[in-house]
Amino acid sequence: MKKVLVLEDESNIRSFVVINLKRAGYETIEAGTGEEALEQLKHNPDIKVALLDIMLPGIDGFEVCRRIRASNSQIGIIMLTARTQEMDKVTGLMTGADDYVTKPFSPAELTARVDALYRRTGGAVVENADEIHQPPFLLNTRNRTLEKNGQRIKLTQVEYAIIKLFMDNPGKALSREDILDTVWGRDYFGELKIVDVNIRRLRIKIEDDPTNPTYINTVWGYGYKWGA
Ligand code: CA
Repeated sequence: MKKVLVLEDESNIRSFVVINLKRAGYETIEAGTGEEALEQLKHNPDIKVALLDIMLPGIDGFEVCRRIRASNSQIGIIMLTARTQEMDKVTGLMTGADDYVTKPFSPAELTARVDALYRRTGGAVVENADEIHQPPFLLNTRNRTLEKNGQRIKLTQVEYAIIKLFMDNPGKALSREDILDTVWGRDYFGELKIVDVNIRRLRIKIEDDPTNPTYINTVWGYGYKWGA
């Protein structure tokens, strides 16, 4: 069963989300507070995707996201943001979320996002044992892990997909649209900004000096390029 955690304190919104996910074939685990959500995750380690509301009684959605990511880089996380909280999207992604959905959202939009993330995280895409070695990086495409100088760098599934795309195309300028299409899928409804935010996060993880990147280079007005 495909399990999704739904953290939302407003019960009418939560029901709306749950009904639509069930209709799309998901089993839902519900939580009304962040504390409850973390507890549910402990009991249901097979949850592959979590939807996190931000404004909550007790700890907020960002904190929940941070705590999940501290021990779990595999689960897919989608933040539920309010239309007016533009900055929340960036904050959410910087705390480790993979995506966000802006309220109010349509059932089609919601399930498309969950489907896309589910395919990436739980998709059981078994690739051949393989390693891409581009010093100082070593990408293992079977375990989906990245090492830099022999040190493991923890990546989310989205970050992994971006790095894989870069390492498959060294030295090639990739447009933000290319990256969005490849990593998030062509049916993705989101904005290009999500690419930039993930790149920012990746640079913090992999660059010697994130303010002066040498691995992920910006191609002004176009996108990004791996290496020189
Ligand atoms: Ca709320």
